Amino acid sequence: MAKERLYLFDTTLRDGAQTNGVDFTLADKLAIANMLDGLGIDYVEGGYPGANPADTELFAKDRKLKTTFTAFGMTRRPGRSASNDPGLAALLDAHADAICFVAKAWDYHVKVALETTNEENLASIRDSVRAAKAKGREVLLDCEHFFDGYKANPNYALACAKAAYDEGARWVVLCDTNGGALPHEVKEIVGEVCKAIPGDHVGIHAHNDTEQAVANSFAAVRAGARQIQGTLNGLGERCGNANLVSLIPTLKLKKEFSERFDIGVSDAALKQLTHVSHALDERLNRAPDRHAPYVGTSAFATKAGIHASAIMKDPATYEHVEPETVGNKRKVLVSEQAGRSNVLAELERIGLKVDKNDARIGRLLEIVKEREGIGYAYEAADASFELLARRTLGTVPNYFDVTQFDVNVEQRNNAKGERVTVTMAVVKVRVGDDNMISAAEGNGPVNALDLALRKDLGKYQKYIDGLKLADYRVRILNSGSEAVTRVLIESEDEAGEHWTTIGISPNIIDASFQALMDSIIYKLVKSRAPA
Ligand SMILES: [Zn+2]
Repeated sequence: MAKERLYLFDTTLRDGAQTNGVDFTLADKLAIANMLDGLGIDYVEGGYPGANPADTELFAKDRKLKTTFTAFGMTRRPGRSASNDPGLAALLDAHADAICFVAKAWDYHVKVALETTNEENLASIRDSVRAAKAKGREVLLDCEHFFDGYKANPNYALACAKAAYDEGARWVVLCDTNGGALPHEVKEIVGEVCKAIPGDHVGIHAHNDTEQAVANSFAAVRAGARQIQGTLNGLGERCGNANLVSLIPTLKLKKEFSERFDIGVSDAALKQLTHVSHALDERLNRAPDRHAPYVGTSAFATKAGIHASAIMKDPATYEHVEPETVGNKRKVLVSEQAGRSNVLAELERIGLKVDKNDARIGRLLEIVKEREGIGYAYEAADASFELLARRTLGTVPNYFDVTQFDVNVEQRNNAKGERVTVTMAVVKVRVGDDNMISAAEGNGPVNALDLALRKDLGKYQKYIDGLKLADYRVRILNSGSEAVTRVLIESEDEAGEHWTTIGISPNIIDASFQALMDSIIYKLVKSRAPA
């Protein structure tokens, strides 16, 4: 049986840009649009031309994307003609393949917010769709507050949707603007709409205010809708939009959907999903959600010993899908509750061949427990665990020694009489027979130390050129006079791979230094740098 086509519409750059604390530059928008294009998203909504300079610029020329690049804006204002509305004119002039109009679908809003008549609102929808069609654009209509509007006045909400469809709009999108609709309501109302408008012209735009935006999207599909709107990582105002990063793997990997529908995302592109999700967070300068479904670092992590031994025998025992399908990794956590089986499973995952009766495994387990007792948290620091395991098994070369380091923080007046804090680090490194001294200024002691350490590693420098710090987290453990500082450093390399290292010390600089060293050595091991 031929599969039906289900379309994905991304609004990260428009609705997602409403997220508190998110402010996309033109460069951000172009980079994200390209990522979405590479993923195979059918529609990418770039923004609202005419509303701000970045969006106007974005649509000032053809961006040459495979996706249907879509501009967003309002239908013509009430009481004006389509040809005499500057907002509509800017939208029609935008270099876009499609135009997505937003219109009121709730009579209460038509009266209170638009201060116009129901009939004039319908005329505005018809005129705007007609004008965009005349310009050769594919047309979508976002029906704002559709579900609340439908509950208040089903005939009018439907009339708004029907007006656009009858005028030739490719899609009529039902928006749960307040995000308060529940899955059974969405299913029922979308089912009713699909009796009047064919489902392959109906879309769903859900918000996550009851944490059911993804569930609502699937409810709409079950009721006949064939376009889903959402954002990467569920970005969006308040609680966000439907999360495409959760929707896509479910559509691809769960039989209910995969046997019935084709989507534009290929199996190969699906493997990029974890990377795309993390790359977006990086651009937003925030740490990825560890517990995000499918793509979080904990999504396929198992802690308890009994689960770990089962996972080693057959991963399917505790995994609903294979982590590799979405570009994620299986992880067996080593922790205080760790048994021998966790350690063995983790060694196998990182590719360390060792006999399961090898005495060094018992030794490794002892060291892990001892260190976790003083504050190390290896389940959060995969790379430090791998180094510890490799060292215990004797496979990490001694690449270089830091023979001395010095960090200096000075506060003083500069030449202009301003109060400034200047930080500088000096690091002495021995690589083979070569002794090197590097110095660097930083915006803080750890930054200065990091820069100095990575400035010159002699023959190893080429392996760490692409290394950078992605996240730095500090926590003080055992408050009081016994306090120790735990530093977790997340690093990233040129291939976009991430790893986390850990340091523990009463001294924050020392703890940071341990974590930085582990990160560099891990990168050298990973790059198979010769000893
Ligand atoms: Zn929205």
